[in-house]
Amino acid sequence: MTELDGIIAGGGLVGLTLALALHRKGIKARVYESVKEIKPLGVGINLLPHSIQNLAKLGLLEEIEKVAIKTSSLTYYAEDGKLIWREPRGLEAGYDVPQFSIHRGDFHMILLNAARERLGAENILTGHHFSSFEQDDTGVTAHFTDRDTGEGRATVRGDFLVGADGINSSLRKIFYPHEGPPHYSGQMLWRGVTEMEPYLDGRSMFMAGHNDLKLVAYPIRAESAKRGKSYINWIAERRIPSDLAERQADWNETGLLDEFKPYFKDWDLGWLDINRLYDNALSIHKFPMVDRDPLPKWSFGRVTLMGDAAHAMYPNGSNGVSQGVLDAMTVADILENADNIETALNDYDDARREVTARISLANRQTGPELVMQMVKDQCPGTCGETHTCIPQEVLEEVATAYKKLAGFDKQTLKMTA
Ligand SMILES: Cc1cc2nc3c(=O)[nH]c(=O)nc-3n(C[C@H](O)[C@H](O)[C@H](O)COP(=O)(O)OP(=O)(O)OC[C@H]3O[C@@H](n4cnc5c(N)ncnc54)[C@H](O)[C@@H]3O)c2cc1C
Repeated sequence: MTELDGIIAGGGLVGLTLALALHRKGIKARVYESVKEIKPLGVGINLLPHSIQNLAKLGLLEEIEKVAIKTSSLTYYAEDGKLIWREPRGLEAGYDVPQFSIHRGDFHMILLNAARERLGAENILTGHHFSSFEQDDTGVTAHFTDRDTGEGRATVRGDFLVGADGINSSLRKIFYPHEGPPHYSGQMLWRGVTEMEPYLDGRSMFMAGHNDLKLVAYPIRAESAKRGKSYINWIAERRIPSDLAERQADWNETGLLDEFKPYFKDWDLGWLDINRLYDNALSIHKFPMVDRDPLPKWSFGRVTLMGDAAHAMYPNGSNGVSQGVLDAMTVADILENADNIETALNDYDDARREVTARISLANRQTGPELVMQMVKDQCPGTCGETHTCIPQEVLEEVATAYKKLAGFDKQTLKMTA
C-alpha cells in the first residue's frame, strides 16, 4: 500500500503511544488533542511487564527508568494487617523486564516529548476537539472544534481514524449513541499522594481490606527515593452504593479527609502509619470507580476505537494503561503489512476486543483482589500472624489465572518477546 497517514483523536497516554508505534513502522500520524495544553495530570499508574516489553521496543525504557519506581512485589493484607498473599513482581519475579509504578503525568510527558521529537511538534495538535467524521472508499475526513466555543478548528483527511479519546469518547458516542454514562461500581475512590518515609522495601505495592473498604498504595517517584523518601500514591476505596450512575468520570474533583479517613480508624498495618499517610497528603482527588460495558464492535470501515475509548475498565489488576499500550502496538503491527485498511482494522478488532472484554468483566469481579474478599468471607478468626484460612494453591490459582487472562504470565511474555 502507498504510505499511510493516520488521524488520532486524543493525545492521552494511549493516543501518544499509538503515534509512536505507528511512527516506528513508518506510518504517518497526526494527533489531535482536545485540551489547549497537555499538562502532567493525575497520580499513580502501573506499567505491567507486557506493556514495558512494548514500551522498550519504542525506546522509552531509559526515560521511564529515570523517573519511576521498579515495583518489587505486590502484597495483599486483610484489614487486621495480617498477610494474605505476597508475590514478587517484575525483575524480582524473574521477568526480563521490570514492572514500573509511575506518576501518570511523568509518563504522559515522556510520551509527549518523544512524540513531538519523532513526529514533529506540528503533528501533535492541541485545542482540537474531535466532533464528527465522514468516510468513503479513499479515506476518512475528521472535523475538529474548539471545545470551549464550539467553533470549527480544522477539517482533515487521512487513511484511517482512531478514537483514543478516553472514557467519555466522542467517537464511541457516534457509534453507540444510546450508551449513556459510564457504569458505576458502587465504589468511591479517594486518590492521593503523600511524601513520607518509605514503608517495607520502598518499592512495594500493597492492597489491604476487602470489597467494602480498601487501601491500595505504591511509591511512584525515583527522585523522592534518591532523597531517602517515598512519594506514595494511595487509593482509599469505600463502597457507597447510592445511585451515582449519572456521574461522569471526573479526575479533577477534590476529595475531603472526612469522607473516608474515619472509616479506617481501627486499622493498624504496623509498618505504615495510615493516619500520617492521609493527613500529609499533597493532594486528594475523589473519583467514582467506573467502567464501560464491552462492545460488540470497535472497527467501522476506516475508523476504530482504542484504549479507554474502547475498553475503560476498573483499576483492579492495574491493567488499564497496559492494555491500551497493547492495543496501540497491535494495530501498528497489523497496519505495517496491510493491503486493505478495513481488513486491517477488523483484524485489530479481532485481536484485541474479546481479550480486553474478558479482563473488564474479570475486573468487575475484583480481578486478582478476590483473595481479600475470600479471607473476609471465609476466615474463621483463628489465623495466626498470617492468614492461612485460604489454601496457598487457591491463592496461587487466582493470581496466575489473572496474569494469564491479562497476558502477563511469564510463559506468554516469553512467546511474544
Ligand atoms: C486528566 C486525567 C487524569 C488521570 N489520572 C489517572 C490516575 O491518576 N491514575 C490512573 O490510573 N488513571 C488516570 N487516568 C486514566 C488513565 O490515564 C487512562 O485510563 C489510561 O491511560 C487510558 O488512556 P487513554 O489515552 O485511553 O485515555 P486518557 O488518558 O483518558 O486520554 C484521553 C485523551 O483524549 C482527550 N480527549 C477527550 N475527548 C476528546 C475529543 N473529543 N477530541 C480530542 N481529544 C479528546 C483527553 O483530553 C485526553 O487527553 C487519568 C486520565 C485523565 C484524562
